[in-house]
Amino acid sequence: MPAIAPRKSYRVGRSKTGLGLFATMPIKKGTRIIRYFGPILDCRIPEQDEIENKYLFELNGRWTIDGSVRKNLARYINHSCRPNAESDVRPRERKVFIRAIKNIEPGDEINYDYGTDYFKAYLKPIGCKCPSCENKRKKQRAEARVERAKVKARAEQKAQKADAKSSNKGAKPKKLNGHAVAKKSRARA
Ligand SMILES: [Zn+2]
Repeated sequence: MPAIAPRKSYRVGRSKTGLGLFATMPIKKGTRIIRYFGPILDCRIPEQDEIENKYLFELNGRWTIDGSVRKNLARYINHSCRPNAESDVRPRERKVFIRAIKNIEPGDEINYDYGTDYFKAYLKPIGCKCPSCENKRKKQRAEARVERAKVKARAEQKAQKADAKSSNKGAKPKKLNGHAVAKKSRARA
């Protein structure tokens, strides 16, 4: 019997990409957080097979959950490539539960991996906005910035060297005379 999180352990809140589901209390790894539910659609019935929305959860080749119903708060859970929860799909029972795969702290957004098909169809074309991908992009941008700065510095150095060479040809290098280092101690003695 899995541990089941109480209803009040999560709430709908604002996330970076719209709305999301957030933990309101600590949720232990392995805990069943919420059920993803809605009418069960049978793809062998044409009018059910025609239903199209972004909350469809395919159980297997035949059955799909239409999670677009208002009461299904699990529909607010966003995708992440490094999630803290997963979908526990039970085709025979025609049920899906979202289960914590990490300890989740209050305030953390709950997310699970929507899977390769969804990623390819919906996320890849627009760029995945999950924290893990955002961080990756941030890192790549920072690395690119460092690389550009290096290239620029090298170019400047080269230009300076070339400059120095050409200006040194005629003039003699300047020498400092020693006046600046006159010592007070000697003056007193
Ligand atoms: Zn991602």
